Amino acid sequence: LITTLILNSKCGYYSVILNFLILMFYDLNYRFGNPALQNLDNILLIPRLVVHANFLFINIFSVYAISLLLNGMDKTLRDSINLKEKAEESDRLKSAFLANMSHEIRTPMNGILGFTELLLEPDLSSEQKEVYINIVRQSGQRMLNTVNDIVEISKIEAGIVTMNLKEVNIQERLDELIRFFTPEAAKKGLKLTLEKEAPKTAKVISTDQHKLDSILTNLIKNAIKYTDKGSIEIGYEITAMEHAPRLQFYVKDTGIGITKERQEAIFERFIQADIVDKDARQGSGLGLAITKAYVEMLGGEIWVESKAGEGSPFLFMMGEMEAYSQYSSPFFFLL
Ligand code: ADP
Repeated sequence: LITTLILNSKCGYYSVILNFLILMFYDLNYRFGNPALQNLDNILLIPRLVVHANFLFINIFSVYAISLLLNGMDKTLRDSINLKEKAEESDRLKSAFLANMSHEIRTPMNGILGFTELLLEPDLSSEQKEVYINIVRQSGQRMLNTVNDIVEISKIEAGIVTMNLKEVNIQERLDELIRFFTPEAAKKGLKLTLEKEAPKTAKVISTDQHKLDSILTNLIKNAIKYTDKGSIEIGYEITAMEHAPRLQFYVKDTGIGITKERQEAIFERFIQADIVDKDARQGSGLGLAITKAYVEMLGGEIWVESKAGEGSPFLFMMGEMEAYSQYSSPFFFLL
């Protein structure tokens, strides 16, 4: 038992068996190795063997019980260490989040206050006024985006985001998004195109339109934000999986790209890939976390196949029919 406590259960079992063998050897040797006792019957030997057998079983059971206890304690200890590490990590992320959020709220707030002050100047030309009002409007929009992101991620964390299924014409959605974002892309001199060879058969699917729109909107906005020249291409295709066909969308840009090491982290909450150069492009760092949560609610997965400096193709796959079983009604099928 001491061996189990000090070393481990394996050594405990070995030492019990060794003890048992030594005692048996001693008794048997005493009984049969001694010519003077040759003619005795076995009346003394049998109870001793029974005692040894009991010793063997009781000790094996005790070693087993102690090892269970030790394993339990070990697991509890490891669980509490894990919990502590998670709590520390979450504390660290929350501090980073607060710092980032303060920056994301304070910068546009300063913009609004500073430029409204300037607007109060008496001798402003109408062009100057227009420029200042535009800055105030953009700053307000930036603040609203940040607040919307915070509200959305809180809802996701609280598990109160619901699914709203209906028939959605993907081609129409993509055309509308292209129409909506083309002026913004054009302002940066970027070409926004929709892959023309989209499959005809999967034009209408049953899904949550708001979530699909938000996913694509986030990816397109990022593509525009992180691309300085070149183009952005959007499209989708059907990939034949083992059981059911799945829809795979992509948003490819020719922008700054993302290094391999940062590719997984960008889908985590509050993390930005360009940490060192955080101020260069504004953003809460919540967009892709929300996008990933939405893709997962649709039973799919999202990933990026980027290289630093070589653009970022973001891809996401919608789930198969079976993947929706957790949402009471199956809602993904190709019509
Ligand atoms: P943010 O609001 O900061 O853009 P996101 O969650 O949308 O937050 O993105 C997280 C990080 O991923 C960004 O800060 C950026 O570094 C990186 N990123 C996202 N999309 C792209 C892209 N298309 N090209 C390069 N980097 C990107």
